Amino acid sequence: MRTQIHALASPIPGTGHRLCSLHYGPVDRGRKVYIQAALHADEPPGLLVAYHLRQRLAELENQGRLAAEVVLVPMANPIGLGQRLLGRGLGRFELSSGENFNRHYADLSAAAWTGLKPIVEAGQIPSVAQVRAALTAACAELPAETELAALRKTLLGLSIDADVVLDLHCDSEAIVHLYSADPLWPKVAPLAQLLRSKVNLLATESGGEPYDEACSMVWGRLNRLWQQHTQSDGPWPDACVAVTVELRGETDVSHELASADAQALIDYLIDQGYIEGAQPMLPKLLAEALPLSGSLPVKATVGGILVHRPLLGQKVRKGQCVAEVVDPLDGAAVELLAGNDGLLYARETSRVVHAGMSVCKIAGTEALRSGNLLSA
Ligand SMILES: [Zn+2]
Repeated sequence: MRTQIHALASPIPGTGHRLCSLHYGPVDRGRKVYIQAALHADEPPGLLVAYHLRQRLAELENQGRLAAEVVLVPMANPIGLGQRLLGRGLGRFELSSGENFNRHYADLSAAAWTGLKPIVEAGQIPSVAQVRAALTAACAELPAETELAALRKTLLGLSIDADVVLDLHCDSEAIVHLYSADPLWPKVAPLAQLLRSKVNLLATESGGEPYDEACSMVWGRLNRLWQQHTQSDGPWPDACVAVTVELRGETDVSHELASADAQALIDYLIDQGYIEGAQPMLPKLLAEALPLSGSLPVKATVGGILVHRPLLGQKVRKGQCVAEVVDPLDGAAVELLAGNDGLLYARETSRVVHAGMSVCKIAGTEALRSGNLLSA
């Protein structure tokens, strides 16, 4: 295992954060797996999974079973982890800019296309390895004047040439769920099976340029550039399978869960041929993929004390009461109703809510939304 330390541009002399990446396995096979935990900083389920993964990856490396380089970033957001306000961690947004740490990742397709032009103009089709080299070079040219820009550039630079990218997050309170891109589902389904995921949300583009899509969707964008240039079909496969893995809620932290999740990720990599070993038994798929545009939030229409009704993981019907907001001053209790049929898969932790806050999310089969599909 090799450890790399990446110094992030410090906002002012005398301060600064460092990102740590752990590198296992052979680097000469042209295959790479990238796993990072807690891009939103205070997401401890993924951090504990990383703790278990690093032990297992070291064992697998010692046994010579790694068929690809495996890069693990156990704490993907040192900036956010250092942010505390009045005794509470605040890891979703950078305090300085107000920006979500999982948005605004660079679309490298145009810059990589420029780098590939000499090969294309010579009448050749660039190989996947050549495209990856062009993407890596394009990433290296990204500006990184701020600490946040440096973090985004560093994370993208570590993963833009990977075959598989697993981005470990968690929700407030939730069951396991996954986000990925439509064309990747056949390769993501075994991961959903191994993690027993009941909610698998797919989109063509979610909006907001989240990290996973910057890694995976760039291949489709490059194919479109090829089509514009040559009037023929794009030559490249979807060479990066990127998945955002939501490991339940922020307090679902135990060695039992983390150890099982780490094993599921290892088994997925065995199933996909990145780690050598006996083919794991894939459990039955618990739920087909759903459109991300079919996931609807339920918002508090008034402020007050939030009382959830159905349990996480329960099916609900459109119009069903999923929570109440109680006003102890006037004795009123306002029911919040589901806007769609579906599975209640995530909900708010705070039991004091302000009007307009999202209190839970319901995944249904019908595509009902458009535009930006991710929450703020
Ligand atoms: Zn997150």
